[in-house]
Amino acid sequence: MIAKRRQTKEVIVGHVAVGGNNAISIQSMTNIPTKNVEGNVRQICELFEGGCEIVRLAVTDLGDIKFFAEIKKILRAKGIPIPMVADVHFSPTIALDCLEVADKVRINAGNFSDKLIGSQSFSDDEFLLGKDKLQKSLGKFFRRAKDLKKSVRIGINYGSLAPRMVFKFGHRDVAMWESANECLEVARKIQFENIILSFKASDVKKMIAANRLACAKLDEMGSHFPIHLGVTESGNGDYARIKSAIGMGCLLMDGIGDTLRVSLTEDPIREIEVAKNILQGCGARRYGIEFIACPSCGRTSYDIQSVLGELKMHLGKLVSARNLKIAVMGCIINGLGEAGDADFTIIGNPNGTLSLYRNRNCILKNVSRKEICKNLIKICQLKLDGI
Ligand code: SF4
Repeated sequence: MIAKRRQTKEVIVGHVAVGGNNAISIQSMTNIPTKNVEGNVRQICELFEGGCEIVRLAVTDLGDIKFFAEIKKILRAKGIPIPMVADVHFSPTIALDCLEVADKVRINAGNFSDKLIGSQSFSDDEFLLGKDKLQKSLGKFFRRAKDLKKSVRIGINYGSLAPRMVFKFGHRDVAMWESANECLEVARKIQFENIILSFKASDVKKMIAANRLACAKLDEMGSHFPIHLGVTESGNGDYARIKSAIGMGCLLMDGIGDTLRVSLTEDPIREIEVAKNILQGCGARRYGIEFIACPSCGRTSYDIQSVLGELKMHLGKLVSARNLKIAVMGCIINGLGEAGDADFTIIGNPNGTLSLYRNRNCILKNVSRKEICKNLIKICQLKLDGI
């Protein structure tokens, strides 16, 4: 059963509202140094045009902050309002300064003030000392974010948990949750609520388990922070896409997830299409016509691949007709039944011709492939014009 979307509070990131009843937003990240201002502007413009709604840039030192601000200024001058997130590791000072220029700052709870190398075993006092250090830095950071009305993502990554958390809770989902909760304790004390949480891992099962545990704990506590979904280091190609789809898809079906990033070791623009497909495939958001097609078999009497290809080429980007479902089926045997609730269904006839059905009623019988594509494209475009 598909769960109802988990109830979350709305967190504002620039002009985009994340959580609540807002659409699940798509994020990406540039993959070049932030000091390459021109390159970042180019990548972000392309991402924005492609449908990216929030973009992240790495801020590795204090010097990067001025480049970040410059990139933002150029984008705004071009009329591109995309919210910009500063991605910070290891430095509370950089994170604090980033709040002045970024719409949101993403920190890694595991390395915000803890050292990732060094001791691997901790006495109770040493553990508390680490916790105290983290919470002091976070207190200052959250207070400033609250004053500036900026939002923060607390990122919990399986691969970069603080060693003291791993020592105390084991290298598992419990340690990830406890790591987030340490940060939330500080936020609660100062009533800072503009927080989005993420629980990421490159191992899909661990990523799913961590998110499920965290959301159960948050809901128990009445804390409805939105969740950013992601499978880290998923790699490239089909395997990366499948891993991301499994990880994010399972959670979206659980009703978990308010924003997401598909991490690919490819040009960032490729992440957007995958994200859209995951959301549409889960029924979480519609970007275009939903195509259903049978795999074809020995009963198929026409070139089904080229018919599907032609329809997708002409109609795939018809955003205004996105509520339509079109089925392309090889034969009548299972065709109409398997096409389910499609608005339009193309069925192959044994003599090589095709027929078109609208809501299961035949509206065009025994015509050629060319004829059926031309007619269906026209009908969809007329629908687009509201005729
Ligand atoms: S719909 Fe017909 S052609 Fe397509 S796979 Fe099923 S039986 Fe084969």
